[in-house]
Amino acid sequence: MTDLYDRTYDELAAWFTERGLPAYRAGQVFRWLARGVSDYAEMTDLPKDLRAALAAEFRVDGLFVERKLVSADDDTVKYVFRLHDGNVIESVLMKYRHGYSVCISSQAGCRMGCTFCASTLAGFGRDLSAGEMLGQVARIGADCGARISNVVVMGIGEPLDNYDELVRFLRLLNDARGLGVGLRHVSVSTCGVVPRMLDFTDEGLPVTLSVSLHAPNDAIRRQLMPVARSFPIEDLLEACRRHVERTGRRISFEYSMFQGVNDRPEHARELARRLRGLQCHVNLIPANEFAGGTYRRSRSEAVRAFQGILEAEGINATVRRELGTDIEAACGQLRRRLEETETQ
Ligand code: SAH
Repeated sequence: MTDLYDRTYDELAAWFTERGLPAYRAGQVFRWLARGVSDYAEMTDLPKDLRAALAAEFRVDGLFVERKLVSADDDTVKYVFRLHDGNVIESVLMKYRHGYSVCISSQAGCRMGCTFCASTLAGFGRDLSAGEMLGQVARIGADCGARISNVVVMGIGEPLDNYDELVRFLRLLNDARGLGVGLRHVSVSTCGVVPRMLDFTDEGLPVTLSVSLHAPNDAIRRQLMPVARSFPIEDLLEACRRHVERTGRRISFEYSMFQGVNDRPEHARELARRLRGLQCHVNLIPANEFAGGTYRRSRSEAVRAFQGILEAEGINATVRRELGTDIEAACGQLRRRLEETETQ
């Protein structure tokens, strides 16, 4: 059985017309999916026999809210979803002044092996389908009762390692007959799978590309991220330059700061030299420490000094504000704990 959330508007319309039914039914179904339904009984404007026919072929209850944690000190909510086959993923709702943003997972687990990341430690389950990505946004939007204006694909998983489903998801998310989230309000974060970045640029989707750089050179990057052994930093930056040229959109770099590893003034200077002339923004992220992790977060003075050097060299840099640390909102941490307690 496949997920109703995976279907595009045109596929739904074809399904109805093949059965001699009016295509406008697709519009009704699409609106229900945008409202995050998990039960056909909620689709009150569809005849019962039609709901039964759909139910025989497609599931709508692919995401089950296993846990919901609301942060006490800010407006951040973490959702832990269980998928139909028992896999567990996480999503985070963040309330900003300008609206609501949801951070979604693209895979159950990850196979990229970044040495500092909790998602990798918990292992790889499987890719998510486009509908499972869309469902996270729709369910959370329904739960908070507000329109979701921004989506970031920055939760568990490497989105470009699940390329086709990611692209399908972005088109579904953008469809004005459904959630209608503007692609300019979507960010996709990658650890730097260069060939897939080139493909992604060619799709011509106006999303923001975030690249997890975390190092000013190959030696440090390889220590942190196995993917850097396949793709040297210069090839990565070349793919970034091409993306900026083709899309006219600046690249956002994520630079997580690990004490004594990548946070020294000389690292900042080397990074500035490397990024010179590239239309970009650097997000400095004080590393998240978690049980079982080996890295320490950089001291705040080191982070500020690093930012100062980048700025002085003409590179835009901000320090990311932290939200939801009390609920372990950062990616992968909760899934890992749940899996650990269950296997004990
Ligand atoms: N696979 C995508 C999305 C991953 S998570 C990517 O690599 O970009 C989003 C960001 O959090 C990435 O930049 C990732 O490198 C970073 N991250 C993961 N674990 C972290 C940790 N313990 N401390 C700081 N940043 C971390």
